[in-house]
Amino acid sequence: MFNELITRDRAVNWHPYSQMKTSQHIPILSGKGTRLYDANGNSYIDAVSSWWVTLHGHSHPYIAQKVFEQLQRLEQVIFAGFTHEPAIELSERLLALLPPNQRKMFYSDNGSTAVEVALKMCIQYAYQQGKKKSKILAFKNGYHGDTFGAMSVSERGLWTAPFQDLLFEVIFIDAPHSSNLEEAFKTIDLHAEDVACFIYEPLVQGAGGMLMHQAADLSALMSYCKSKGILLIQDEVFVGFGRTGTLFAANQLTESPDIMCFSKGLTGGTMPMGITSCTEELYEAFYSDEKMKAFFHGHSFTASPIACAASLASLDLLLQQDTLEAIKRIVRLHQDFTAELRTFDVVQNVRQCGTILAFHWNIGETSYFNHIQERLYNAFLAEGVILRPLGNTVYIVPPYCISEHELLEVYRAIKKVANNMC
Ligand SMILES: *Cc1c(COP(=O)(O)O)cnc(C)c1O
Repeated sequence: MFNELITRDRAVNWHPYSQMKTSQHIPILSGKGTRLYDANGNSYIDAVSSWWVTLHGHSHPYIAQKVFEQLQRLEQVIFAGFTHEPAIELSERLLALLPPNQRKMFYSDNGSTAVEVALKMCIQYAYQQGKKKSKILAFKNGYHGDTFGAMSVSERGLWTAPFQDLLFEVIFIDAPHSSNLEEAFKTIDLHAEDVACFIYEPLVQGAGGMLMHQAADLSALMSYCKSKGILLIQDEVFVGFGRTGTLFAANQLTESPDIMCFSKGLTGGTMPMGITSCTEELYEAFYSDEKMKAFFHGHSFTASPIACAASLASLDLLLQQDTLEAIKRIVRLHQDFTAELRTFDVVQNVRQCGTILAFHWNIGETSYFNHIQERLYNAFLAEGVILRPLGNTVYIVPPYCISEHELLEVYRAIKKVANNMC
């Protein structure tokens, strides 16, 4: 069965971020809680939440039930000219949890589209005020998705090289640190007139290598941009829904963004959906008797009722006392493990933000495509744990349902591989 599925898969499927000639793709038959079960009967602890999406574990019965009920009531309806209660209720409930300046929700399908929507909103916002603002400000080492707009505002590298000439102009600044803020302010001053918006991953830059910065430094930068009339797009696609230890990274910042992007954990990681939230001021700029001032953007599956139902169910689970306690437990266990990790020679630069723990594996070269990434990935798999390093950066992003026992099992695997490799 295992080999048969691999052969059939190879014959027809093309996997993401994979060199198909050399990569392997394990057939998974089922998932329950933190664990995934392959076609050979092996189980793996999913310590990366299946690309950072799963919040409450795989195949959660409560979410399954709510999605099943919604599927039988209304599975889909065009969201232009029609609306439905799951989208209304989800917007109401999410807005109540966001900074109070967030007032309207625009739905799409994934994180990249949530970012595209945000960028287009900002550019059109300037356009409708008769201003031509064509530049965008972003962090170095950022990641906002793989569509063209999202790729443009992300770190450029080997993987974007083929498209380099087609990406639009972006001003990149260093992620904030008390020592480089003045320099960032100078760069902003230089371009302020032409900059429509500043897009950033708050507190943790995920795909760029789980790089972390301080809330106070980011708040200072946000405040400076605001004083220059630059709109703020806060991309919480990865960090939203509890990853940083608070419900949103926004809860740790003293400034509120103009726009926020959500996806990944939004549906509890059960199905794709994106949301871009914005302020009343932004929304008002499109609110007019003139038809052409509307926001002409949409996707076939905008506000999918079943994805909304999954999101509502996930939110029910997330806000339960048990889940909030579980998040705190992960934070505490990570803190203890951090101290232990520091005693290993191969481990450098251990850092933690809430439930996200990351460190540098200090051997070999450091590119995303290097050997060490594959070696580590396979070594962890052999221990029954899914950890997918970004280059030399090993990180843990567990689902909140992970038990203490399972998390200790993940730590044990890391320690064992560290001992074997030095
Ligand atoms: C993953 C990610 C995206 C893109 O989301 P997709 O659903 O993969 O398109 C955007 N921004 C951040 C911060 C992300 O981590």
